[in-house]
Amino acid sequence: MPLATTPISFEFFPPKTEAGQQKLLQVRDALAATQPEFFSVTYGAGGSTQNGTLQTVLALRESGIDAAPHLSCIGASRAELRQLLSEYQQQGITRLVALRGDLPSGMGMGGELRYANELVAFIREEFGRHFTIEVAAYPETHPQAPSFSADLQHFVRKCAAGADSAITQYFFNADAYFHFVERAQAAGVTIPILPGIMPITNYTKLARFSDACGAELPRWIRKQLEAYGDDSASIQAFGTEVIARLCDQLIAGGAPGLHFYTLNQAQPSLDILAQLQG
Ligand code: FAD
Repeated sequence: MPLATTPISFEFFPPKTEAGQQKLLQVRDALAATQPEFFSVTYGAGGSTQNGTLQTVLALRESGIDAAPHLSCIGASRAELRQLLSEYQQQGITRLVALRGDLPSGMGMGGELRYANELVAFIREEFGRHFTIEVAAYPETHPQAPSFSADLQHFVRKCAAGADSAITQYFFNADAYFHFVERAQAAGVTIPILPGIMPITNYTKLARFSDACGAELPRWIRKQLEAYGDDSASIQAFGTEVIARLCDQLIAGGAPGLHFYTLNQAQPSLDILAQLQG
């Protein structure tokens, strides 16, 4: 699928400051100009950013691009989820990213639904086909899963519960994505699996985040980023080249779209897209 016909989507987090909110609108407009399929907005399990998610979805939607709140079930009761989903329905929201989520450490497990497949089933039971539901996928295996195959089985169950599409955790190795998609399809999954794309802009944050979410930062990328130290221009030029090449491989191999983790920045995603078109 050529880039011109590849659906693109962009993920944001709810800004925590007034300045962040102002900036969000500029970033939104810059990214809306690429005509993405949809925007999505993260949701903090355990209450950290929950109120901001809806406000951010509404602000993004003013651009004319559809916006989907993420929703996690960990730590929430069915009644709380029903109330939030009803509010989303009343606001005209028709797309969700449904997740289990991770509670901040010290908050225990809690909640009435234990896994994302139960959340997907709950949304379908209560709201029928009102929402288009995206779920998460892990080409390099979810960090808490005992094995690739156990995680794959859970993913298959989550799709069968009524998901319409999946978005992957980010990765830097196209083979991990293609292997996961092949295995999922062999196990009966038919929904599109969109690769999650993380632009490279800051080595320290990327290394910390990758360790936490189980995404492998390959040694050759790590070493090169380390060597650049605080030369952010070189990090960004290298990062754009590496990620644009990854996107090229993904599109050439049949990926059904690209979902960018923007971290509320427009330029890194735009640079990658420009390199892809160039
Ligand atoms: P699940 O699919 O429930 O899987 C969680 C773990 O449990 C896996 O190890 C799985 O193998 C296992 N498992 C699943 N079902 C079963 C079962 N029935 N029995 C036993 N084990 C099972 N987090 C947030 O807090 N907010 C966000 O906005 C957010 N957005 C995200 C967006 C994307 C695209 C991705 C990839 C991740 C996002 N996350 C977000 C992170 C996500 O919440 C965590 O990775 C979380 O640990 C797992 O959520 P999940 O929906 O994948 O869980």
